[in-house]
Amino acid sequence: MRAIDMHVHVPRQPGLPEMSIEPGLRRYFKVRSAPERGADLAAAYAGWDIVGVVFSVDAETTTGERPDTNDYVAGIVNDHPGRLVGFATVDPWKMEEAVEEVERAVTRLGLRGLKLHPVHQAFHPNDERFYPLYRKCVDLGVPVLIHSGFAAAGLGMPGGGGLKLKYGAPIPGIDDVAADFPGLTVVMAHPAWPWVEEQIAVALHKPNVYIDLSGWAPRFIPDALVRETNTRLQDKVLFGSDFPYLTPDRWLKGFEDLPIDDEVRAKVLVDNARRVLGL
Ligand SMILES: [Zn+2]
Repeated sequence: MRAIDMHVHVPRQPGLPEMSIEPGLRRYFKVRSAPERGADLAAAYAGWDIVGVVFSVDAETTTGERPDTNDYVAGIVNDHPGRLVGFATVDPWKMEEAVEEVERAVTRLGLRGLKLHPVHQAFHPNDERFYPLYRKCVDLGVPVLIHSGFAAAGLGMPGGGGLKLKYGAPIPGIDDVAADFPGLTVVMAHPAWPWVEEQIAVALHKPNVYIDLSGWAPRFIPDALVRETNTRLQDKVLFGSDFPYLTPDRWLKGFEDLPIDDEVRAKVLVDNARRVLGL
């Protein structure tokens, strides 16, 4: 296995209409083709010899759009054992129902983490009304992957599709959660531009916080984060692509050109994710 890709979006569940942010995302990332079925996604990852962490995002309260179900994601994962790891999605605004769904998704469906997207789902990660979600993840022993920084979703739509970037700030949002739940493993998704320095501070300060490098072609990852990846954060940074918006094979090619030591590369590509996922 070449690498573990921490950040992979599943194709839209068959039968559901495309989400409104999707055409803009494809334009921004210049996506030419994307798998239409879970089997195609799994086949692509098999071809690359990469293990992918797959998920969707339930933002039904803010968008009115029906979510892909966790059963659908689990189905894709279970059809391709050893190739994919699934994370649950819940809409935090569904409150107790969301907490129960995390439990069901992990204990009944075999999903191994939770994905949250504060910008798309319109919530502050440190809003204590949602703390039961984190408490549940601690009880279940699963990590939470939280979108951080800029979001390409909504870009160019009127009002940015109504999406508010403030929810992506690592401080106070993610820092507070990591402080209040020291037993919770938190992965900040993406270089959190324009708050990369804050993101570095949180990951340095909190042993339970990690960063995935997804969503940015390696040559655009801010220098400060590349430098910290090679030094102080070498046990805290994880490879992620953001497939299908970026493809992992092209990302890995670009990664070769970054000034990162070989033993650190192995940590970023495989070892750190193994620890986070408990594989
Ligand atoms: Zn993503």
